[in-house]
Amino acid sequence: MATKATQAAKAMAGKAVKTAQAAKAARAARTSGASGASGVSGVSGVSGPADYDAIIVGGGHNGLVAAAYLARSGARTLVLEGRPKTGGAATTEAPWPDAPDFKVTRLSYVMSLLPPTIINDLQLERHGYKIYPMGPYYQAFPEGGSIKLYADDAKRNHDEVSKWSKKDADAMPRWDAWLAGLADVLGPLLLTVPPNIGSRKPRDLSETLRLAWRHRGLDVRTIADVTRLMTMSIAGLLDDWFESPQVKGALAVNGVIGTWAGPYEPGTAYVMAHHSIGDVGDGHLGNWGFQEGGMGAVADAIARAARHAGAEIRTGARVSQLLLRNGRASGVILENGQQLTAKVVVTSLHPRTAFLDHVGRANLPDDFVTDIEHWKTRSGVVKINLALAELPDFTADPGTNLQEHHTGSVEMAPTMPYIERAFTEAREGRPAVRPFSDGVIPTAFDKTLVPEGYHIMSLFTQWVPSDWNEAPHTEELQAYADRMIDCYNEVAPNFKSSIIHSDIVGPYEMEHEYGLIGGNIFHGELSLEQLFHMRPAPGFADYRTPVPGLYYASSATHAGGGVCGIPGMQAARAAIADRRATLRRK
Ligand SMILES: Cc1cc2nc3c(=O)[nH]c(=O)nc-3n(C[C@H](O)[C@H](O)[C@H](O)COP(=O)(O)OP(=O)(O)OC[C@H]3O[C@@H](n4cnc5c(N)ncnc54)[C@H](O)[C@@H]3O)c2cc1C
Repeated sequence: MATKATQAAKAMAGKAVKTAQAAKAARAARTSGASGASGVSGVSGVSGPADYDAIIVGGGHNGLVAAAYLARSGARTLVLEGRPKTGGAATTEAPWPDAPDFKVTRLSYVMSLLPPTIINDLQLERHGYKIYPMGPYYQAFPEGGSIKLYADDAKRNHDEVSKWSKKDADAMPRWDAWLAGLADVLGPLLLTVPPNIGSRKPRDLSETLRLAWRHRGLDVRTIADVTRLMTMSIAGLLDDWFESPQVKGALAVNGVIGTWAGPYEPGTAYVMAHHSIGDVGDGHLGNWGFQEGGMGAVADAIARAARHAGAEIRTGARVSQLLLRNGRASGVILENGQQLTAKVVVTSLHPRTAFLDHVGRANLPDDFVTDIEHWKTRSGVVKINLALAELPDFTADPGTNLQEHHTGSVEMAPTMPYIERAFTEAREGRPAVRPFSDGVIPTAFDKTLVPEGYHIMSLFTQWVPSDWNEAPHTEELQAYADRMIDCYNEVAPNFKSSIIHSDIVGPYEMEHEYGLIGGNIFHGELSLEQLFHMRPAPGFADYRTPVPGLYYASSATHAGGGVCGIPGMQAARAAIADRRATLRRK
């Protein structure tokens, strides 16, 4: 682990080290470059051989991916999950005690970002990973009519968009090609470990140069396009391409998903790109899919892969603190007081929990503490899960029989001003009167979630005020959900009466039950100042942390959020690489 130790020491060298403990840790790392130096600092550690080679804090999908990679490398690996089940925000649950046969993907709901590298390395298909590619985006408009947008069918897109604007229909293939070109640039960056930009140390400089060299083929136009994407609002970008409010509304959805920002805010164009550069393995860029068995089944498949490789997974095992020996991570303390030691610890929790609560401010450099304190983690998301007796019967596309428009996203985002109004109301401290929703009906394909003849509809909705993580707001959430349902009822008049069960998850529950601080779905906003080399803090975007022996695998690192597993894979790779470097040196 010496490379890690050296890295952390390097990172600390330019920073004010807050306490003697941290200074001592940095010195120990610099001089020994080794793990397990004797003596105790920070929270008292236990001497003697470690219980495990690696402990993973948090059994969300990223923690499980990290565990699978570490176990495959031969490390004795333990995952500690605080909840009674693994999966974190990738969870399938039966929220209605009187209807245990109805299962919902309670939080995250669709797949796209998990790269083939991870699917293949962990042989996830063997362990139960099975995706049904989704149908088109569908929006039925309150004033009548509808639009469908396909991820992979230019001819039908042309027909659909022509209903609203011939000019936009002609622009659509160019837009798709433009996005594909940008995905060629941005896609590989998702799997790139961000360099420590600004550092003058030789290794950091060479990493930065290597990245620049990789992109030497980019021309002036492409760099300009990337710049636009990184700096513009999704509204501004779409205004450059399209004229029809209906088309722009449909294309704006991906720009505001999970974001504490309306479509006119700079940076939302990038959020759209983040949600548009994955594919579900079928080669269609931007396509999304439903996991059979819900999103919990993705986490289950990864957990099976981890166990298959030898990892041990404990649930109901909540970690309360990191154990430090000589400033180096040496294990954890559970809430029940049990201490478990390990040569390395990988934490996959929200940065405030992982660093400020578990490591403690006194054991971290001042700059890093400030960065984590300033970490933006709002979103105002409310998830509404519904069990339906029949499919929505849209006035624009009648029938309760399963039709194509039921198989993809069933949106409530008719225009950009509609979405903007929902955000403005929440920013002013009121829940949206007419919320925006990204709805899906996974049971259009997946028959494992409900008894025959029934359906689940999952509504990812925004916004409520960003401080609703501080109190349950139960009655107001119910009223908000009722208004959301009314919006769908306007375009599908059987909708309200078809609902037999409902489940509302607001920011307070997301924070207190699932550890999503502030209710942010990605462990931190995807705002420009929190991307790439800034995620989660400058100088520590390489999945290492200021504490030697502690690695970071949460969605708050580069490529997160989303169910993409990349943070878990990269943190494990960093730990494995550092261990190999230490062994080589020895
Ligand atoms: C409402 C919602 C909708 C979303 N929709 C999508 C979507 O459709 N597609 C998509 O790709 N992404 C979606 N996301 C985002 C995605 O789900 C998350 O980015 C991702 O699941 C986070 O994974 P993770 O492993 O980094 O963290 P988490 O899933 O948060 O896992 C962290 C784990 O740590 C555990 N934990 C917390 N504290 C402790 C402790 N002290 N000790 C031990 N364990 C602890 C938690 O219980 C949890 O299991 C959505 C998220 C939400 C909330």
